[in-house]
Amino acid sequence: MITIPHSRPTIGKREQEQVARTIATGQIAQGRMVKEFEARFARDMGVNHSAAVNSGTSAIHLALLALGVGEEAEVIVPSYVCTALLNAIHHAGARPVLADIDPVTFNIDPVDAEKRVTARTRAIIVPHLFGLPANLEALLNLGIPVIEDCAQSAGAESQNKKTGALGTVSIFSFYATKMMTTGEGGMVVSRDAGLIDGIKELREYDNPEGFKIRYNYKMTDIQAAMGLVQLKRLDSFIEKRRTIADEYREGLKGLHVRLPENHPGHVYYRYVIDLGFESSGLIRSLAQKGITATKPVYKPLHRYLNLSGYPNTERAWKKSISIPIYPSLSSPERARIIQAFKESFREEPIEPVE
Ligand SMILES: *Cc1c(COP(=O)(O)O)cnc(C)c1O
Repeated sequence: MITIPHSRPTIGKREQEQVARTIATGQIAQGRMVKEFEARFARDMGVNHSAAVNSGTSAIHLALLALGVGEEAEVIVPSYVCTALLNAIHHAGARPVLADIDPVTFNIDPVDAEKRVTARTRAIIVPHLFGLPANLEALLNLGIPVIEDCAQSAGAESQNKKTGALGTVSIFSFYATKMMTTGEGGMVVSRDAGLIDGIKELREYDNPEGFKIRYNYKMTDIQAAMGLVQLKRLDSFIEKRRTIADEYREGLKGLHVRLPENHPGHVYYRYVIDLGFESSGLIRSLAQKGITATKPVYKPLHRYLNLSGYPNTERAWKKSISIPIYPSLSSPERARIIQAFKESFREEPIEPVE
């Protein structure tokens, strides 16, 4: 029995050709291909300005610095997210302030976020978790810079706008298994030319203006060559993910679980099911059947920081499960996943989560 991995990149011949071609030119570091990738990516996301970097974490770090977030500043983030955000906030010397999530969408709860605003709040980071667009309206009205974290939502749409088009500044990740990939990589986009200029100034240490602390966060032309091909394929990747999500919705209907929200702009970076009971047993049972499922967030941030009082995050962490979804998942693999899930679900003794 071959185990189905939880995630897998989708890379083809075209990526290989373009990477090989770029290497053959001898221009391999940040150059012409990076410029072209920045321009096309910004156009496709409906923004004017962009700066490519070497990871999503670097993208958040530079976005914070460009907004003037430094020591003494507080940055609001949801607790239910990976530690990349925590790292980036610490890199900027700022203090993370955690907010709880909405129990249905898993995205930041705008009401709870607003309660956590103080005189020191300098930014709010809003991930569009699992590819479902977060509701930005209330947060944008607070008058505090909003950083859209689109690491999981490239191409997702809400009210005819792509995620990343509304925030003060927005970031993307091109890690191997994200919506599209350059191996590692990231992008910062904004409507504000000044912010992006500031980020470009910080991402490389060589600068004739004199010394200040800068970074080496550049993307290579080799990566950008791959990114340009992946960007062209993004719509087809999303279509495939939506087809699989439809299959899961059909295949798992009738089970007493909550399936992901059927939002037309959802890109299903993850297919996260709210089980209503602790998920570890079901994850183990699926593993025995050759299916790799996981808790969608390894551990919420409030647990790393020893904080309590995030009831919706706690519940989501304990009772949700992420099953494989990616463009290269074959039809027989999908059938196996649905079958195994239904079997394991029936076998599983239900332990309610308080
Ligand atoms: C992956 C991810 C990041 C970090 O991106 P890297 O490229 O791995 O540094 C940040 N935020 C979210 C929501 C992510 O999923």
